[in-house]
Amino acid sequence: MINILVVEDEPAIADVVALFLQREGWHVRVSYDGQQALNAISEQLPSLVILDLKLPKVHGLELLRHLRQATDSFLPVIILTDRSQEKDRIKGLEMGADDYVSKPFSTAELVSRARAVLRRMPVQNPMMIAQYKRPLQFDPLVIDPNSRTVQVAQRTISLTATEFDLLYFLASHPRQIFTREQLFENVRGHHQQPTYNTISVHMRRLRQKVEPDPSKPIWVHTVWGSGYKFEAATVEQRQS
Ligand code: CA
Repeated sequence: MINILVVEDEPAIADVVALFLQREGWHVRVSYDGQQALNAISEQLPSLVILDLKLPKVHGLELLRHLRQATDSFLPVIILTDRSQEKDRIKGLEMGADDYVSKPFSTAELVSRARAVLRRMPVQNPMMIAQYKRPLQFDPLVIDPNSRTVQVAQRTISLTATEFDLLYFLASHPRQIFTREQLFENVRGHHQQPTYNTISVHMRRLRQKVEPDPSKPIWVHTVWGSGYKFEAATVEQRQS
């Protein structure tokens, strides 16, 4: 079943687009802003995203960048742009959008482009879709297991494979305390081998990289005499 996600903040346009896509026998969902779209994609990966670039909250190009990081290139995207926004259109195509339609557009044109993009797609690999995991978000920290990237305040943090594995493992079990042995058992074998003795070194480097102030950690905490734990705090919660 082809399911299409339409991301468009103007309800009048979104509704018409959805209606015409539904007439093709496709299942259609609508998101009215970038955040809603991210949630919708985490819930169920669409066959195609039709993405308006001018969106509130998360800009369309930002969303596109995120999609490309999280899902590589197997999720096709058609961008909607204003005729006047040539720069955004070019940027969108450079960032991996599969096609674009300029506003004002005819719905027939959009439908035929959607059909063409879907036709070009290899049969979607169900394995890849099954493997899509929801990114963990602790504003401003985002841990994306699909692209194995970490961002703090939208800045990508460069972590070693072991540091990433440690962070993702801890963040997947918030507030649970893990000893160095347990951490070692859970992350070893993925990439280069951490040894039991180096866990604390990896943890220290991890903290230096992701924490805004490593001496007063928000997320990665040492529990003296026991081990480590991850606090699922956001900066807002922390300040209030
Ligand atoms: Ca718009």
